[in-house]
Amino acid sequence: MRTNRQGLLIILSGPSGSGKDTVLNELATLVDELEISVSLTTRNRRAWEKEGVHYYFVSREDFESRLAHGEILEYTTYNGNYYGTPKTRIDGWLAQGKTVILKIEVEGAAHIRALYPQCVSVFLMPPSLQVLAQRLVGRESENSAEIERRLAIARVELSHAGEYDYIVPNDILDYAVSDFRAIVRAERQRTCRKAYMIQQVLDSTG
Ligand code: 5GP
Repeated sequence: MRTNRQGLLIILSGPSGSGKDTVLNELATLVDELEISVSLTTRNRRAWEKEGVHYYFVSREDFESRLAHGEILEYTTYNGNYYGTPKTRIDGWLAQGKTVILKIEVEGAAHIRALYPQCVSVFLMPPSLQVLAQRLVGRESENSAEIERRLAIARVELSHAGEYDYIVPNDILDYAVSDFRAIVRAERQRTCRKAYMIQQVLDSTG
Protein backbone atom coordinates (compact mmCIF):
# COMPACT_ATOMS: atom_id res chain seq x y z
CA MET A 1 0.00 0.00 0.00
CA ARG A 2 1.30 3.45 -0.89
CA THR A 3 1.95 5.59 2.15
CA ASN A 4 3.77 8.56 0.56
CA ARG A 5 1.95 11.67 -0.51
CA GLN A 6 1.68 12.01 -4.28
CA GLY A 7 1.51 15.49 -5.74
CA LEU A 8 -0.36 16.43 -8.86
CA LEU A 9 1.46 17.55 -11.99
CA ILE A 10 -0.69 19.60 -14.36
CA ILE A 11 0.24 20.74 -17.84
CA LEU A 12 -1.55 23.86 -19.03
CA SER A 13 -1.31 24.55 -22.75
CA GLY A 14 -3.19 26.89 -25.04
CA PRO A 15 -2.32 29.19 -27.92
CA SER A 16 -0.60 32.49 -27.28
CA GLY A 17 -3.38 34.87 -26.20
CA SER A 18 -5.67 32.12 -24.87
CA GLY A 19 -5.33 33.58 -21.36
CA LYS A 20 -3.09 31.07 -19.56
CA ASP A 21 -1.43 33.70 -17.33
CA THR A 22 -4.72 35.37 -16.43
CA VAL A 23 -6.37 32.07 -15.53
CA LEU A 24 -3.34 30.98 -13.48
CA ASN A 25 -3.18 34.30 -11.61
CA GLU A 26 -6.79 33.81 -10.53
CA LEU A 27 -6.29 30.15 -9.72
CA ALA A 28 -3.33 30.97 -7.49
CA THR A 29 -5.61 33.04 -5.26
CA LEU A 30 -8.09 30.17 -4.88
CA VAL A 31 -6.03 27.00 -4.55
CA ASP A 32 -3.60 26.16 -1.76
CA GLU A 33 -0.41 24.12 -2.06
CA LEU A 34 0.03 25.29 -5.65
CA GLU A 35 3.38 25.82 -7.37
CA ILE A 36 3.56 27.34 -10.83
CA SER A 37 6.82 26.47 -12.50
CA VAL A 38 8.75 29.43 -13.93
CA SER A 39 10.38 28.60 -17.26
CA LEU A 40 13.62 29.77 -18.81
CA THR A 41 13.35 31.64 -22.09
CA THR A 42 15.62 33.40 -24.55
CA ARG A 43 12.87 35.70 -25.86
CA ASN A 44 12.81 39.39 -25.00
CA ARG A 45 11.02 40.44 -21.82
CA ARG A 46 7.67 42.18 -22.34
CA ALA A 47 7.19 45.52 -20.56
CA TRP A 48 5.04 44.11 -17.74
CA GLU A 49 6.99 40.88 -17.21
CA LYS A 50 9.15 40.35 -14.14
CA GLU A 51 12.32 38.29 -13.98
CA GLY A 52 11.73 35.16 -11.92
CA VAL A 53 7.96 35.66 -11.89
CA HIS A 54 6.91 35.26 -15.51
CA TYR A 55 10.16 33.75 -16.79
CA TYR A 56 13.86 33.61 -16.14
CA PHE A 57 15.17 35.58 -19.12
CA VAL A 58 18.49 34.15 -20.25
CA SER A 59 20.84 34.36 -23.24
CA ARG A 60 21.05 31.56 -25.82
CA GLU A 61 24.54 30.68 -24.51
CA ASP A 62 23.23 30.38 -20.96
CA PHE A 63 20.28 28.24 -22.08
CA GLU A 64 22.48 25.93 -24.15
CA SER A 65 24.96 25.54 -21.31
CA ARG A 66 22.16 24.59 -18.86
CA LEU A 67 20.85 22.13 -21.44
CA ALA A 68 24.30 20.55 -21.79
CA HIS A 69 24.55 20.26 -17.98
CA GLY A 70 21.20 18.41 -17.74
CA GLU A 71 19.47 21.22 -15.86
CA ILE A 72 16.43 21.38 -18.16
CA LEU A 73 13.56 18.89 -17.89
CA GLU A 74 12.04 19.61 -21.31
CA TYR A 75 12.40 22.38 -23.83
CA THR A 76 11.21 23.57 -27.17
CA THR A 77 11.91 26.26 -29.71
CA TYR A 78 8.93 28.50 -30.27
CA ASN A 79 9.04 31.27 -32.81
CA GLY A 80 12.85 31.18 -32.90
CA ASN A 81 13.44 31.23 -29.14
CA TYR A 82 14.22 28.55 -26.58
CA TYR A 83 11.74 27.86 -23.77
CA GLY A 84 12.50 25.25 -21.11
CA THR A 85 11.36 23.92 -17.75
CA PRO A 86 14.13 23.96 -15.11
CA LYS A 87 14.52 20.58 -13.47
CA THR A 88 15.35 21.78 -10.01
CA ARG A 89 12.21 21.75 -7.93
CA ILE A 90 9.47 19.80 -9.71
CA ASP A 91 10.14 16.39 -8.14
CA GLY A 92 10.64 17.91 -4.68
CA TRP A 93 7.30 19.71 -4.86
CA LEU A 94 5.54 16.55 -6.04
CA ALA A 95 7.10 14.54 -3.20
CA GLN A 96 5.66 17.12 -0.77
CA GLY A 97 2.19 16.45 -2.20
CA LYS A 98 1.92 19.81 -3.95
CA THR A 99 0.07 20.65 -7.15
CA VAL A 100 2.59 21.77 -9.76
CA ILE A 101 1.56 23.56 -12.95
CA LEU A 102 3.70 23.69 -16.07
CA LYS A 103 2.56 26.32 -18.56
CA ILE A 104 4.06 24.85 -21.71
CA GLU A 105 3.23 24.34 -25.40
CA VAL A 106 2.14 21.11 -27.09
CA GLU A 107 5.57 19.65 -27.87
CA GLY A 108 6.75 20.09 -24.29
CA ALA A 109 3.46 18.60 -23.12
CA ALA A 110 4.20 15.41 -25.07
CA HIS A 111 7.64 15.13 -23.41
CA ILE A 112 6.19 15.61 -19.94
CA ARG A 113 3.45 13.00 -20.54
CA ALA A 114 6.19 10.50 -21.44
CA LEU A 115 8.23 11.39 -18.32
CA TYR A 116 5.27 11.64 -15.90
CA PRO A 117 2.47 9.34 -17.14
CA GLN A 118 0.23 10.31 -14.19
CA CYS A 119 0.24 13.98 -15.09
CA VAL A 120 -2.98 15.69 -16.08
CA SER A 121 -3.14 17.90 -19.15
CA VAL A 122 -5.47 20.82 -19.76
CA PHE A 123 -5.90 22.76 -22.98
CA LEU A 124 -7.23 26.31 -22.67
CA MET A 125 -9.45 26.88 -25.68
CA PRO A 126 -10.10 30.35 -27.12
CA PRO A 127 -13.63 30.92 -28.45
CA SER A 128 -12.31 31.52 -32.00
CA LEU A 129 -9.21 32.47 -33.98
CA GLN A 130 -10.72 35.93 -34.47
CA VAL A 131 -10.94 36.49 -30.71
CA LEU A 132 -7.39 35.18 -30.31
CA ALA A 133 -6.17 37.67 -32.94
CA GLN A 134 -8.01 40.51 -31.19
CA ARG A 135 -6.44 39.59 -27.83
CA LEU A 136 -2.94 39.47 -29.34
CA VAL A 137 -3.45 42.87 -31.01
CA GLY A 138 -4.94 44.29 -27.80
CA ARG A 139 -2.01 43.45 -25.57
CA GLU A 140 0.31 45.52 -27.79
CA SER A 141 3.40 43.45 -27.06
CA GLU A 142 3.99 42.02 -30.54
CA ASN A 143 4.18 43.60 -33.98
CA SER A 144 1.86 42.42 -36.77
CA ALA A 145 4.39 39.98 -38.29
CA GLU A 146 4.92 38.41 -34.86
CA ILE A 147 1.14 38.18 -34.33
CA GLU A 148 0.76 36.42 -37.69
CA ARG A 149 3.45 33.89 -36.70
CA ARG A 150 1.74 33.29 -33.34
CA LEU A 151 -1.62 32.74 -35.07
CA ALA A 152 -0.03 30.24 -37.47
CA ILE A 153 1.46 28.36 -34.49
CA ALA A 154 -1.96 28.55 -32.78
CA ARG A 155 -3.55 26.56 -35.62
CA VAL A 156 -0.97 23.80 -35.16
CA GLU A 157 -1.47 23.82 -31.38
CA LEU A 158 -5.26 23.60 -31.77
CA SER A 159 -4.82 20.50 -33.91
CA HIS A 160 -3.22 18.83 -30.83
CA ALA A 161 -5.98 19.76 -28.37
CA GLY A 162 -7.50 16.28 -28.70
CA GLU A 163 -4.41 14.80 -26.98
CA TYR A 164 -5.28 16.57 -23.70
CA ASP A 165 -7.27 15.14 -20.78
CA TYR A 166 -9.41 18.27 -20.51
CA ILE A 167 -10.41 21.18 -22.70
CA VAL A 168 -11.35 24.35 -20.80
CA PRO A 169 -13.06 27.02 -22.92
CA ASN A 170 -11.87 30.53 -22.11
CA ASP A 171 -14.58 32.83 -23.35
CA ILE A 172 -15.67 34.13 -19.93
CA LEU A 173 -12.73 34.25 -17.51
CA ASP A 174 -14.70 33.35 -14.37
CA TYR A 175 -16.05 30.18 -15.96
CA ALA A 176 -12.61 29.14 -17.18
CA VAL A 177 -11.13 29.64 -13.70
CA SER A 178 -13.98 27.78 -12.06
CA ASP A 179 -13.67 24.86 -14.54
CA PHE A 180 -9.92 24.66 -14.03
CA ARG A 181 -10.34 24.76 -10.26
CA ALA A 182 -12.88 21.92 -10.46
CA ILE A 183 -10.36 19.83 -12.39
CA VAL A 184 -7.66 20.47 -9.78
CA ARG A 185 -10.01 19.59 -6.93
CA ALA A 186 -11.22 16.37 -8.52
CA GLU A 187 -7.79 15.22 -9.66
CA ARG A 188 -6.37 15.76 -6.17
CA GLN A 189 -8.85 13.22 -4.82
CA ARG A 190 -7.88 10.41 -7.20
CA THR A 191 -7.03 7.25 -5.29
CA CYS A 192 -3.51 7.18 -6.73
CA ARG A 193 -2.87 10.53 -5.00
CA LYS A 194 -4.83 9.90 -1.82
CA ALA A 195 -3.88 6.29 -1.07
CA TYR A 196 -1.53 7.51 1.68
CA MET A 197 -4.62 8.47 3.70
CA ILE A 198 -5.77 4.88 4.09
CA GLN A 199 -2.86 3.89 6.29
CA GLN A 200 -2.87 7.26 8.01
CA VAL A 201 -6.47 6.82 9.12
CA LEU A 202 -5.97 3.16 10.06
CA ASP A 203 -2.97 4.15 12.20
CA SER A 204 -4.97 6.89 13.90
CA THR A 205 -7.53 4.50 15.42
CA GLY A 206 -6.54 3.40 18.89
P1 5GP B 1 5.16 33.33 -24.71
O1 5GP B 1 6.25 33.85 -25.58
O2 5GP B 1 3.79 33.73 -25.23
O3 5GP B 1 5.35 33.66 -23.26
O4 5GP B 1 5.20 31.73 -24.78
C1 5GP B 1 5.12 31.06 -26.02
C2 5GP B 1 4.72 29.61 -25.77
O5 5GP B 1 5.78 28.91 -25.10
C3 5GP B 1 3.47 29.44 -24.89
O6 5GP B 1 2.63 28.47 -25.49
C4 5GP B 1 4.03 28.95 -23.59
O7 5GP B 1 3.12 28.16 -22.88
C5 5GP B 1 5.21 28.13 -24.09
N1 5GP B 1 6.20 27.88 -23.04
C6 5GP B 1 6.58 28.71 -22.02
N2 5GP B 1 7.51 28.12 -21.26
C7 5GP B 1 7.73 26.89 -21.78
C8 5GP B 1 8.59 25.79 -21.40
O8 5GP B 1 9.33 25.83 -20.43
N3 5GP B 1 8.54 24.69 -22.19
C9 5GP B 1 7.72 24.60 -23.28
N4 5GP B 1 7.73 23.46 -23.96
N5 5GP B 1 6.90 25.61 -23.64
C10 5GP B 1 6.91 26.74 -22.91
